[in-house]
Amino acid sequence: TWAEVLDAHGTGRGCEVCRPTVGSILASLSNGYVLDGDQAALQDTNDHHLANMQRNGTYSVVPRIPGGEVLPDQLIALGQIAKDFDLYTKVTGGQRIDLLGARLQDLPEIWRRVLDAGMESGHAYGKALRTVKSCVGNTWCRYGVQDSVGMAIRLEERYRGLRSPHKIKMGVSGCTRECAEAQSKDVGVIATENGWNLFVAGNGGRSPRHGDLLAADLSDAELVTAIDRFVMFYIRTADRLQRTSSWLEELDGGLDHVRRVVFEDALGIADELEADITQHVNNYECEWKATLDDPERLTHFVEFVNAPDDRSTPVWISERGQRVPA
Ligand code: SF4
Repeated sequence: TWAEVLDAHGTGRGCEVCRPTVGSILASLSNGYVLDGDQAALQDTNDHHLANMQRNGTYSVVPRIPGGEVLPDQLIALGQIAKDFDLYTKVTGGQRIDLLGARLQDLPEIWRRVLDAGMESGHAYGKALRTVKSCVGNTWCRYGVQDSVGMAIRLEERYRGLRSPHKIKMGVSGCTRECAEAQSKDVGVIATENGWNLFVAGNGGRSPRHGDLLAADLSDAELVTAIDRFVMFYIRTADRLQRTSSWLEELDGGLDHVRRVVFEDALGIADELEADITQHVNNYECEWKATLDDPERLTHFVEFVNAPDDRSTPVWISERGQRVPA
C-alpha cells in the first residue's frame, strides 16, 4: 500500500514526484479498483472521477466499443443518452463514441444507462489499454486474408482495464494495405496469408514512430502469447508516463533484447509475465459497474461536498447544432 511504501522509504505525505509514481506502480501491480484504499489520493484528476475532465469542468463519457464493432441498438442507446443529457457527440480516432459535457453528478446515471445497453467503461481516463482499432478484414473486404475484427475484439477483451505506465493502443489490419494503421500503435498486428505479423512500439502524437516488426507469420495462439509477454515486460520495466516507443529506444539491447525476452525467455520470466496477464483477465471488472454497485463509491460524484444539491453553471453556446463550452 501507499502507507507501507511511505513508512519504509519516505517522509511526511510524499511529494509531487513520488506520489504519482507510486500510484502508477500500485495501479499496475494490483489492477484492482483504482480508487480503493489510500491509493485513491494518488490518482490524477481523470482517474479520480473515472472520466476525463474538460476545459469547462464537465466530463466526457467514452464507452468501450471493442474492435470498433457496435450494434445498431447500442448506437441508438448512446444517441438517446446524448439527447437526454444534452451531450456533444463525436466519433474518436479509436473507433468509439465520445459523449462530452457531462456534469459530475450525472456521470453515475449516464454510465448506468451505458451499462444497461451492454457496454462498459472504455478507460479513456486511465493509463491503461485504450482501444484496439481494426478494419473490417476478410469478413467484408475483398483483400482481407484474416478476421481482423475478431482478433481485435479478442485482444481488446483480454487487455481491457490493464493499467500501465502510459496509455496503450493497439490495432489489427486484415491485410498489408494496413487500413487500421496498426504500425502507429504500441502493438500493431497485420494479417498475412500465413497468420499475423506483430509490430511493437509504434506511436502517433507528438513524436510519430512506425512500429518495429517483432515477429512474422504467428498463429493466433502464438500472437496472443507474444503480446502477453511484450505488454507485461513493458509494464514492469517502463518509467511512469513512458510510452512503448521511448521505452524501446532507451532499453538496453533494444528490439533484439525484447525479441529474446518474448520468444526465447532470455530472462527466465516468461511464465511470470503470462501469469500476470492471466490474473488480470480473471480479475477484470468494469470500473463503472463496480462503482454503481457500491453506494460508498458513488459519494465521490458531487461537485460541492458541503452542498451536494448545488450545481455549477458552465456557460454554453451552440455550434453546428450541438452544445459546446462558450
Ligand atoms: S487492411 Fe486490407 S483487409 Fe483491411 S480494409 Fe484495408 S484492404 Fe481490406
